[in-house]
Amino acid sequence: MKHTMNHPMTTMLHDTVEMPMHGLGVFQTSDGDEVTNAVTWAIEAGYRLIDTAAIYRNEAGVGEAVRSVGVPREELFVTTKLWNDEQGYESAIAALDASLERLGMDYVDLYLIHWPIASKLSDSWRALEELQSDGLARAIGVSNFHGPQLDALMAEASVAPSVNQIELHPNLQQRTVVAANDRFGIITQAWSPLKQGRVLRDETLIRIAEAKGVSAAQVILRWQLQSGIATIPKSVTKERIIENGDVFTFSLSEDDLAAIAAMDSGDRIGPNPDDHPEGFKD
Ligand code: NDP
Repeated sequence: MKHTMNHPMTTMLHDTVEMPMHGLGVFQTSDGDEVTNAVTWAIEAGYRLIDTAAIYRNEAGVGEAVRSVGVPREELFVTTKLWNDEQGYESAIAALDASLERLGMDYVDLYLIHWPIASKLSDSWRALEELQSDGLARAIGVSNFHGPQLDALMAEASVAPSVNQIELHPNLQQRTVVAANDRFGIITQAWSPLKQGRVLRDETLIRIAEAKGVSAAQVILRWQLQSGIATIPKSVTKERIIENGDVFTFSLSEDDLAAIAAMDSGDRIGPNPDDHPEGFKD
């Protein structure tokens, strides 16, 4: 298996859309130059997937970079997300329309429900199915859904989500949710894959990284890709964007993977979807 950043690893979603397994996240990235530069540097470095959201308030800058970078739109994969206060049938339809307007695009490649809200799930998903059949979202999926939330969705859905984007890093490996995703053929995509930088001084990661002449961040991203997990590291720093994209020319051994597996402490940095006041309670 050979991968270079010009031919990044991809997966076929069950909507028959090909999705890069690696991309750039743009949470906490200001609209304007900051996001436009980050997206431009990433695409120049070979990234083909950009992960934004309506709530990040930087879709306009993402769109500007995608239009000006010189890579055809159809070779790029753009994800955006439906924010909580716009869940519901008509509001979700209007929300994607507004996102497309800000992005300056005719379609997104992936539209995700950002967080599960039990009372709105059925209507929001019906809207996403319609948006997909209308060609406005090539693939549709969810984020922050756990097993019971996926079960509730699958009970009503005509189309299964293709992706479930969840917090996942060496200290939160999410084996239960990954197993639920696998059961439904859903690709797991890791958010905060680097634990927002808070795991990069870990001794195990540094030992593995030094032996390979790479960084701890590269070890984490490679571990996710080798585990079949899509990943969207964020950086606004050109050198780090390049570094985080350079994860296709080395691999981790079984021993390396076992050492990282032992780092799972269940430590989250974001909210637990199970605790959301409007979320799902069993
Ligand atoms: P990440 O785990 O990607 O970490 C980003 C932080 O790590 C930044 O502070 C960045 O600094 C730093 N960093 C990046 N690369 C390196 C490196 N090579 N060496 C040292 N430090 C580095 O955090 P995010 O929370 O941003 O998660 C990634 C993406 O996931 C988001 O951008 C967003 O797209 C998505 N996400 C989705 C959520 C959801 O609910 N669906 C929730 C949270 C995130 P700097 O930028 O200054 O270089």
